[in-house]
Amino acid sequence: MTMTNGSAVVRNAVVTGGGSGIGKAIAERLRADGHQVATLDLNPLDEKFAYRADVANRDQVDEALATIHAELGQVTILVNAAGLEKYKRFRNLSFEDWQHVIDVNLSGVFHCTQAVLPDMSAAGWGRIVNISSSSTHGGQPFMSPYVAAKSAVNGLTKSLALELGPEGITVNAVPPGFIDTPMLRKNEERGLLGGTVEDHIERTPVRRVGRPEDIAAACAFLVSEEAGYITGQILGVNGGRNT
Ligand code: NAP
Repeated sequence: MTMTNGSAVVRNAVVTGGGSGIGKAIAERLRADGHQVATLDLNPLDEKFAYRADVANRDQVDEALATIHAELGQVTILVNAAGLEKYKRFRNLSFEDWQHVIDVNLSGVFHCTQAVLPDMSAAGWGRIVNISSSSTHGGQPFMSPYVAAKSAVNGLTKSLALELGPEGITVNAVPPGFIDTPMLRKNEERGLLGGTVEDHIERTPVRRVGRPEDIAAACAFLVSEEAGYITGQILGVNGGRNT
């Protein structure tokens, strides 16, 4: 059932990867906006409506979504933020390396989206936001399966927007660039950024590192009632690093 909180409509939302970084900030922002939010993560936070599921495992996703549906009700907002990177030269990648990155970053979006669609179709209203990556704008060496998966997520977003628009469901993607999360700091420590975060700030037009809250703000807008005429779009949030 849809309730209202003042003038705002209260919805049930699921955020994958909600245990850390960008997904955690999105869940916090949607809660602050009055929505009921459940998170899915490999390592869920110790909080209400935080569930453990590997998004690459359909049985785990279906089980978690069934529990969320039973506890919260119809889910009409989905943000697919779970993801992982792998840095390796293409020639050294095993097929298992390749498959794992594709399974989590791309097939995870497939599983979670299919699992919530019945609720959105029944409601005649839905908002899906897929967190892809700014690496899709120009490619990235040593990250081929990740960039391939995230580029496919952008393509999936456009196709689903066309397919689901008539049902009242919008589908958009947000490719973040250079956001200060555990993922970025791990890459800095491992010397994978080609400099420090501070060095990169000098090369970023708005002269700061992105914050998870920047991505959360874009998502909050895209899942809102007023964003209903926006679908199939790829909204870069990257401080101007990619235009
Ligand atoms: P993060 O801090 O590592 O958060 C990612 C979350 O996803 C973690 O909680 C992780 O759990 C979870 N996760 C990983 N594999 C999962 C699986 N199979 N099933 C369920 N949950 C899983 O990274 P982040 O920087 O916030 O990244 C969030 C999203 O933004 C990702 O999709 C990432 O690719 C994308 N992104 C980030 C940046 C950036 O600058 N930070 C740039 C471009 C794109 P564990 O920690 O337990 O593994």
